[in-house]
Amino acid sequence: MSSKPSRSALAALHPRKTLAFRLSAAYSLAGLILVILATASLYIVLRTELNRSTELFLADKLHVLQTMLRERPDDGEALNEEIELESQARRYQQFYIRLLDERGVPIMTTSGMAEQLDLVELASRTRGRSERPIAMVGRHGKPFRVTSASVAVGTPPTHNDTVQIAIDISQEDDLLARYRFWFWGILLMTSVLFPLVGFRIARDGIRPVEEIAAIARRITSTSLRERIESEGYPSELASLAGTFNEMLERLEESFERISRFTADIAHDLRTPVNNIRGEAEVALARPRTADEYRDVLESSLEESVRLSELIGDLLFLARAESPFTELHRETVNIGELLTTVHDYYEASASDAGISLVNDGTEPLSAELDRSLMLRVMSNLISNAIAHTPPGGTVTLAAKNEDAAIRIEVSDTGVGIPVEALPRVFDRFFRVDPSRSKASGGTGLGLAIVLSILTLHGGSAEITSQLGRGTRVTLRMPVLATR
Ligand code: ADP
Repeated sequence: MSSKPSRSALAALHPRKTLAFRLSAAYSLAGLILVILATASLYIVLRTELNRSTELFLADKLHVLQTMLRERPDDGEALNEEIELESQARRYQQFYIRLLDERGVPIMTTSGMAEQLDLVELASRTRGRSERPIAMVGRHGKPFRVTSASVAVGTPPTHNDTVQIAIDISQEDDLLARYRFWFWGILLMTSVLFPLVGFRIARDGIRPVEEIAAIARRITSTSLRERIESEGYPSELASLAGTFNEMLERLEESFERISRFTADIAHDLRTPVNNIRGEAEVALARPRTADEYRDVLESSLEESVRLSELIGDLLFLARAESPFTELHRETVNIGELLTTVHDYYEASASDAGISLVNDGTEPLSAELDRSLMLRVMSNLISNAIAHTPPGGTVTLAAKNEDAAIRIEVSDTGVGIPVEALPRVFDRFFRVDPSRSKASGGTGLGLAIVLSILTLHGGSAEITSQLGRGTRVTLRMPVLATR
């Protein structure tokens, strides 16, 4: 049996680290590394410099003694002054000098040297070494740097004496120890402070994201009015909040449209159903003649036809909006298409006293769904005929525009008021509901036109002047775009 751990079990084992945690951990680590590097390198430089200055000082002293012994080997006073007085002149950096003859018998020694240092050890440790100073601990635990050198006496040299120099470096060691103390102190402080400050900065940075998430979590179909106040947000998050607000705006708009649409559907379905029911109830209230029953049945049939047309239109619109809707494209000769609809509507137009003119006889063709385009044309022509008084004209035209076809249906009818124009493509919108209902309009005709044009990758526009007429312009690409 497979024992693969579930996703939630894995998540419990390895809890997701928050962004604030990751950011503050990264800040702290980077900060600590920087502090360690800076303080450690300063410490190394300081220690090297202190050592170097001690070495230079010892080398300098040795050089002075070498010169004195070479040039004035018998000037004991000067030598004594150098060895005794000079060494006492430095209060904070005591140093000691001892001069031994060629047999190793001390000639001159700075007073107090034997008390501070084990001279036997000094001699044995510095014997045979180069002049580079070595570290040595004094009798009282004080740190020293000691060196010794063989020095030629007289010019020309008669023999070699030995000079031993020791310098007390406790001041330098104290300084370095204080430095190390501060180094650890600063490290301790920063390792507490950095994560705190880092966490604070990260949390402040992330707060807008959390606010956006909280609002997103609160939003339901009834609270789409909510918006994010992005004042004070950094620009990246302000633009995220802006995008989010725009999305809410669109959602709110489409929710409103859907609820309006649902109310309209309910209303439009209820009317014919109520009519059928009312008539049936009245008819059944008492016995009727065959003619009376026939009248009721005819009227019910009419209402049923209206109902099924409405349901058919609604179904069509719902299918047209589905992303899986496929067009059955073929090469359609536009001239032929216009002639077909023209011929179909000519009789009803002339019955209404309207002349239907076909100007679209140019040989144009495009990749279109023929039966849907017939539906578009018949919706537009029947609208035009319905809203044009006798004596008027309805004109069909088609033109080639770059890689698009433009089809126009214009009439010399009643026109549409300016304020109603932006809404005529909306579902169930009627300029004058009472008038349209009388003529059987559902308010879905232009919505269906627009959705078919959208399916074809085209557009539909309407211009109108009250009392002078209306023109609907369709544009669609010659070649299939999807
Ligand atoms: P309907 O199916 O009710 O005609 P449409 O969606 O086709 O609905 O049209 C919406 C509204 O636009 C109609 O109620 C009508 O008042 C107006 N309309 C459409 N075409 C024309 C036109 N050619 N002239 C005047 N008004 C028009």
